[in-house]
Amino acid sequence: MSSNRISVAILLIFTLLAFACSQNIYRENNKAHKKTVKEAAAIIQEIPKTKAELDYDTLSITDEWVGTTNFSIRKPNYVIIHHTAQDSLAQTISTFTLPRTQVSSHYVVGRDGEIVQMLNDYLRSWHAGKGRWGNDTDLNSASIGVELDNNGSEPFTTAQIESLLVLLKRLKWKYGIPTANFIGHSDIAPSRKVDPSIYFPWKKLAEEGYGLWYEEEVVFPVLTFQDSSSIAIENTDTIPEERIDPMLALRIIGYDVSDPKAAMRSFKLHFVQRDIESGWTETDQRILENLYKKYL
Ligand SMILES: [Zn+2]
Repeated sequence: MSSNRISVAILLIFTLLAFACSQNIYRENNKAHKKTVKEAAAIIQEIPKTKAELDYDTLSITDEWVGTTNFSIRKPNYVIIHHTAQDSLAQTISTFTLPRTQVSSHYVVGRDGEIVQMLNDYLRSWHAGKGRWGNDTDLNSASIGVELDNNGSEPFTTAQIESLLVLLKRLKWKYGIPTANFIGHSDIAPSRKVDPSIYFPWKKLAEEGYGLWYEEEVVFPVLTFQDSSSIAIENTDTIPEERIDPMLALRIIGYDVSDPKAAMRSFKLHFVQRDIESGWTETDQRILENLYKKYL
């Protein structure tokens, strides 16, 4: 082969290599992913040990293995929504593929509405962290994590919310997730988290069947006049004499009230969406008193 031909061949090889690399930037990452999936699958495939195989004595396990024929895989029963607090989809994907960050989610929804699925729904992603909802303290095991690409101080895009609604529809249908179980990260971790931000359209989601909302016409009744103009009533004269303890009502909804101020702030972030830091107001109390009954 002439030296010219050799250099052309070398150039071709390098071009092909460069092309192959650009097509497989996640190859190493995906290999590591598959390895972890295999390890999880091996745990599921393990046959429980019999009394004879165990090195400790127990009366509750028989000498002989008896496998039931009636079972299936456990399903997620919550969806927890987040904002990424990062500047781009690429940045979030990078965060979720670096082992040292120890964080991930099942889905990331881009500002343009593109959805990246990063984990099988049946596996446990690390999005919830330490938290509590009702008496459930392992939300990662029970939920699907959905992250929205958003820096935390900007509105969510229309395309992003539309995509999110399509995703939620599929998840709700596929796993039979109850309407009340579409919640935010700040709901389950009030003292640690403030996502999704005040811009997140919880009311719109509730109207579509994802999460609950209070009855606005009851909480904020409106007087309508004959000329069809209307004014909102200041509701101070219709306050019931018996007020519910806000901590009790928040607890019924699901909030961890071990830090009362944080629980109130998280409730306001989700259901009031203004004056988050201004303390507990009459409006907040009225919304809470209407809402908690839906969780009874
Ligand atoms: Zn979060």
